Amino acid sequence: ASGYSLLRDPHHNKGLAFTEKERDAHYLRGLLPPVVVNHDLQVKKMLHNIRQYQIPLQKYQAMMDLQERNERLFYKLLIENVEELLPIVYTPTVGEACQKYGSIFKNPQGLFISLKDKGKILEILKNWPQKKIQVIVVTDGERILGLGDLGCQGMGIPVGKLSLYTALGGVRPSACLPITIDVGTNNEKMLNDEFYIGLRQRRASGQEYAELMNEFMSAVKQNYGEKVLIQFEDFANHNAFDLLEKYRTTHLVFNDDIQGTASVVLAGLISALKLVGGSLADHRFLFLGAGEAGTGIAELIALEISKQTNAPLEETRKKVWLVDSKGLIVRSRLDSLQHFKKPWAHDHEPVNEFLDAIKTIRPTVLIGSSGAGQTFTKEVVETMSSFNEKPVILALSNPTSQSECTAEQAYTWSEGRAIFASGSPFDPVEYNGKIHVSGQANNAYIFPGFGLGLIISGAIRVHDDMLLAASEALAEQVTQEHFDKGLIYPPFTSIRKISAHIAAKVAAKAYELGLASRLPQPENLVAYAESCMYSPKYRSYR
Ligand code: NAP
Ligand code: MN
Repeated sequence: ASGYSLLRDPHHNKGLAFTEKERDAHYLRGLLPPVVVNHDLQVKKMLHNIRQYQIPLQKYQAMMDLQERNERLFYKLLIENVEELLPIVYTPTVGEACQKYGSIFKNPQGLFISLKDKGKILEILKNWPQKKIQVIVVTDGERILGLGDLGCQGMGIPVGKLSLYTALGGVRPSACLPITIDVGTNNEKMLNDEFYIGLRQRRASGQEYAELMNEFMSAVKQNYGEKVLIQFEDFANHNAFDLLEKYRTTHLVFNDDIQGTASVVLAGLISALKLVGGSLADHRFLFLGAGEAGTGIAELIALEISKQTNAPLEETRKKVWLVDSKGLIVRSRLDSLQHFKKPWAHDHEPVNEFLDAIKTIRPTVLIGSSGAGQTFTKEVVETMSSFNEKPVILALSNPTSQSECTAEQAYTWSEGRAIFASGSPFDPVEYNGKIHVSGQANNAYIFPGFGLGLIISGAIRVHDDMLLAASEALAEQVTQEHFDKGLIYPPFTSIRKISAHIAAKVAAKAYELGLASRLPQPENLVAYAESCMYSPKYRSYR
């Protein structure tokens, strides 16, 4: 290849870091200024440039441009500055990027499959330049973060998630494939936007939708085999549960909004118990919000209690109560409930108000997963604090504006007694002379390591026990030093180490369950996971 095309190939380009010898060997003389710099200095310069931008979306665009220009520099920068750059390449900034995707869109970073492509999906997969794919993140754009239906412009989400698979979990970038399925959009703003990049029609549903998804799932298996991980991302709940149910026995599928959320929240609860005492079975849980996040977490809690106590799942579910937009989920509502809520319809008289539900259920753990902000009022937190020495309060709704309460409110209203974590990050809070550092229940703790564990074991199915294994692995990473600050999650700075531990536990579970195809089982799975992780170090071209 010519030097000129080498500089334009993001997988191989090193920019000013090409050495004198490489410049001679690859016809690069004159195409670069004379200076030769090292990778570290390039990172320093890029970080400096990105910090110059005041607007997060500009930082996002600078990062995307870098990814398209020099992939290894992009990943080194992201890995070494993960706390600072995660909110840029992922939530919240990626949400704004999706909203404006039509106008900022440059080169396609993944595959677009639309209703127009019915019957041709296998051909489309073959158009993608990389052949060895290990992880696909796919969305239909109907429930992008808390922003709703963004149609085809949801593409920013699979792209962002997969860059975290690489940066945090060490999956090779060339093995990652972002896909957006475009079945239309019901978002009037998109339909009327002249820069919209998707199909200009209302969403297909029912049989038409199911057939396209089915063709997609079959084509993926035919083209990439049994071991490719398909992560469903940001589907609306009326499709998300059904897709997971339908394909979990035939494909390696994972829904991060349901299963990843459940695993990361359960990890937080396991470590919260070290601060409040008791085992999971000693606690009572109340959720505000009974959708993908709420019922997903609820089910994993019940499953873990069932494992710990040998009690049947139907019994352990009774420790968990959920409130949706119509009040407490109870038996008398059974017939009108969506099927994913039915297991939670316990015997109880109807309760309409959330506060009344708290007063009658008397939970020890309160979890917000409704997407509606400011719902954990002063009265709610005070009520929780009236019958709990240390109330566990998780405000999971994103973004920050939708949080059930702020960290400051939780600590102030509970007189410093709450064990608090949230979906969106909050700064540390000083209350009565003590600094409280709240945790962030970020799915990015789990899914990269979880996926790596599936890959290194050659797993062919996802089993719920693997989610439990991931939760335990994450909880084990919280040390006494973290607990002393009130933290129930470890800091993000050691995320690659955390991911390797999660991967090892998930892989071990895959072997134990007979779902692993990579044989023999490596002796030291943590070391093996680490050895498999992608490193952004430059290669030398001689
Ligand atoms: P979803 O499937 O749409 O579910 C939302 C649920 O909340 C539904 O049960 C809905 O009731 C209920 N609800 C909405 N407004 C309510 C209100 N004012 N009062 C009571 N209930 C209300 O959404 P999801 O995927 O579960 O996501 C929910 C939220 O969790 C989002 O803000 C998301 O960002 C957040 N989340 C956080 C994390 C994390 O922290 N790691 C992970 C995933 C999701 P009906 O069923 O009656 O309509
Ligand atoms: Mn999601």
